[in-house]
Amino acid sequence: IFSGPISFLKSAPQLQHLPDAEVPEIAFAGRSNVGKSSLINALTGRKALARASNTPGRTQELNFFDVGDPLLFRIVDMPGYGYAKAPVQTVKKWRYLINDYLRGRTVLKRVFVLIDSRHGIKDVDKEILNMLDAAATSYRIVLTKTDKIKASELEKVVAETQVALAKRAAAYPEMSVTSAEKKGGIDELRSAVLEAVYI
Ligand code: GDP
Repeated sequence: IFSGPISFLKSAPQLQHLPDAEVPEIAFAGRSNVGKSSLINALTGRKALARASNTPGRTQELNFFDVGDPLLFRIVDMPGYGYAKAPVQTVKKWRYLINDYLRGRTVLKRVFVLIDSRHGIKDVDKEILNMLDAAATSYRIVLTKTDKIKASELEKVVAETQVALAKRAAAYPEMSVTSAEKKGGIDELRSAVLEAVYI
């Protein structure tokens, strides 16, 4: 499936710009710079499908990608969060867009929430986790950049994250452990995405 056609469909800065809810959607969320673009590119085997969105001006949109021809499902690149310098208005807009999307999108099957393996779940990540729990949206944690830490550190962050997840209702205690750089865990992540598409 991932070696077949995958293409950018559209950006939705507001809910009225969402594409028709025709097929299942799998979304990716995470703090800015967590490695979301790199991971989506590794997942899809494309060099520059998702572009690094390192400027606050580009944080506002949901980006939709069509997978398969005929269309099988969509990958949704959610706007990054946690910019230290983001204006209050920008944060508010993000919150409304994400909340509305999570609550209203019946075709949304699961959100993959990316967490930097060097840091684990931080306060800045808790808002989206709380929103996901409140919207009863299924989600799964994906640890990123695991090539940057030692195996012993990875073990520790996996254990800590599992404890944090066990306290939350809608999460999967299992998580994906990835390195976009070294292509670690990418096959497993593909399976996890397909599993979520077909639940
Ligand atoms: P985004 O803002 O979440 O889309 O993050 P990017 O994908 O643009 O990545 C942010 C930075 O982290 C870039 O400099 C990437 O090269 C780097 N990066 C992303 N994934 C990895 C990874 O798996 N390993 C390492 N070492 N660096 C990564």
